[in-house]
Amino acid sequence: MNDTRERSTGNGPGNRVDAVRADRTHVASHDPSVSDAVHAGVVEHEDVERGAVESHAAAVAESLGAWWRANARDLPWRFGRATSWGVLVSEVMSQQTQMSRVVPYWTAWMDRWPDARALAAAPKADVITAWGRLGYPRRALRLQECARVVAESCGDVLPRTYEELTALPGIGDYTASAVMSFAYGERIAVIDTNIRRVLSRVLTGVESRGGAASPAERALAARALPRDAASSVLWNQSVMELGALVCTAKAPACDACPVADCCAFLAAGRPGLGERRTRPRQRFAGTDRQVRGIVLDALRHLPPEATTLDRAAARALWKDRAQLDACIASLDDDGLIEMLPDGSLRLPR
Ligand code: SF4
Repeated sequence: MNDTRERSTGNGPGNRVDAVRADRTHVASHDPSVSDAVHAGVVEHEDVERGAVESHAAAVAESLGAWWRANARDLPWRFGRATSWGVLVSEVMSQQTQMSRVVPYWTAWMDRWPDARALAAAPKADVITAWGRLGYPRRALRLQECARVVAESCGDVLPRTYEELTALPGIGDYTASAVMSFAYGERIAVIDTNIRRVLSRVLTGVESRGGAASPAERALAARALPRDAASSVLWNQSVMELGALVCTAKAPACDACPVADCCAFLAAGRPGLGERRTRPRQRFAGTDRQVRGIVLDALRHLPPEATTLDRAAARALWKDRAQLDACIASLDDDGLIEMLPDGSLRLPR
């Protein structure tokens, strides 16, 4: 990508971003009501900043909406085809896993357990087995805990408020916001890694940090959110999709990006691209995650006549005995397996 060429052409990102920045001046000096208020000290700097972000975001939303309509992936929980429970399941499954990998698991899961009550009644072993290779299998048990609360305390109806959703087991800010926006069509800022990265790059020209969302990132997401509910849902979905498909962490495809002409990060020459990850990605081979996965896989794939994995077979799963024992103990602590007195293992009943 030739950033210099992009910035030097008349229609390049610098010009559009400059135009958007000019809106900030416009807000302060050409709207008589705002200008007067600023001079009277009624409107603080923060209000002017808010107007600048809103007008920049509106320009981005215009291009992004058209791109979404032509390019959004046809995932089975989108476009009003899933229940609110189905949307929640899709969000839990895709928290640590790419959405494209989630599709077959979600489809089989919803065929088998279409609502909270059905999942609540399922044997734990079946739930863990059905989670398959989605990773971080504790999520499966937390989802079943959530299903039990919804089935038993909410009449099998997923709550409709953010406060009630975040009170459910395993449901944090992101999942609750996503359900409020994508399932219920409410106006709420959804803040995940992809959205934070795109907003930071496009609106501020700065590479996003990893780790937890900062107050500044939350404020930016709130300011950028369109004011009417339907537009806010489109915004959340399309920004997230852009982050997944185009504006990726390490190799953003700026040449093919629908918002390139109003992206502050591209206009600035993409400073510090990919440098801000606070945690280097952990290699998988040899990690406890791999060993735990091997143990769970062995239990998921026991022959139908076997109910347990005997001690000798368990010990043959991994050559480092200390690591294997620690991983088996941690799986037991997490409720994902059961260790029997004779040293054999099984999935929980
Ligand atoms: S892909 Fe490039 S141009 Fe598009 S939002 Fe990301 S950094 Fe900006």
